[in-house]
Amino acid sequence: MKRTILLNPGPVILSERVRRALLQEDLCHREPEFASLTLDIKHRLANVYPEAASNYEAILLTGSGTCAVEAMLESLIPKQGKALIVSNGVYGERIASMVSVHAKANSVVSSQWHEAINLQNVENCLANDPAITHVIAVHHETTTGRLNNIAALGLLCKRYQVALLLDCVSSFGAEEIAFADWNLEACAATANKCLHGAPGVSFVLVKRGVFTERPSGASTLYLDLYRYYQEQKQGYSPFTQAVHVYYALLEALKELEESGGYLARHCNYKILLQKIYRGLKELGIQPFLDEQVTSCVLRSFKLPLGYSYEQMHDGLKQAGFIIYAGQGGLKNDIFRIANMGDLQLEDVNRLLEYFKILLDRNRTTLI
Ligand SMILES: *Cc1c(COP(=O)(O)O)cnc(C)c1O
Repeated sequence: MKRTILLNPGPVILSERVRRALLQEDLCHREPEFASLTLDIKHRLANVYPEAASNYEAILLTGSGTCAVEAMLESLIPKQGKALIVSNGVYGERIASMVSVHAKANSVVSSQWHEAINLQNVENCLANDPAITHVIAVHHETTTGRLNNIAALGLLCKRYQVALLLDCVSSFGAEEIAFADWNLEACAATANKCLHGAPGVSFVLVKRGVFTERPSGASTLYLDLYRYYQEQKQGYSPFTQAVHVYYALLEALKELEESGGYLARHCNYKILLQKIYRGLKELGIQPFLDEQVTSCVLRSFKLPLGYSYEQMHDGLKQAGFIIYAGQGGLKNDIFRIANMGDLQLEDVNRLLEYFKILLDRNRTTLI
């Protein structure tokens, strides 16, 4: 099979082991075999971060990362609650849209996409608005590759005793998540980013007490986490699940455990991303954000002068590499490279060779 090197932030390159797991036997989601599979995955997901293992319950959903984020917001922000959304990119803005679509009370503290989250404005809101029950933020803002300062945000949540809900879709499995220190009530993530599973399954890790302390905030039947929580205690789900994608996720989680867990993955990602950053720098391509504020998962780079994104993308695609465009207002300024998935050092070396060929070729034609 042709090996396409996906450098987009999910879906990711599957390892052969995970890909083969998709070919297992057909299974009815009402049978005990499926219930055991679900319970095994739930247990492993809660154990990716040892700190979460005893206090958080993983709820599995069939759908992409956005499905898990929406289910989290819809179910956990109480009907009479109020959300403070902290945004500095596409995914923060998507959260604000979802909370508004669901007609929940909210305020938004937004920053420009190239800026950090505005902690001073967050503190002002928390100090002046006692109606706020939940702060919502994006851990790794994939729009730019910025790892938001959730440690500082979490401290504010603790001080003002409001719960934090996080979109960890592109950080879960590779970046540190400090559950207790951040006053984290729940985080949403997906199978097919840093966990290296196939697309189609996502999940929310929720503090266990929540389900017994207060009723669901959901005005939707399909995305109500409370219902999933009840039924998944025995391993069953209210609706048909992506059975084969579950198989792949189980295998991906075993692979993560055997390779040293999220800390080892963090280190491996860092090595790959450093290599990409240094190689592109040598070719005169500059990063969009400083290294201190970026994740280990993705970096955005300024498009070199005289090159359109399409030129770069199409040239690299011919060689088997898929890079990723900037979104919205950054469309004509940046491109992005994610290093999640089964990406090897040889792949990165080849990528850099092709980048060089592409730039050399165009320089020659320009002359
Ligand atoms: C990818 C991503 C999402 C959305 O995930 P989908 O699987 O495309 O629905 C949400 N938030 C962040 C931070 C992401 O990187």
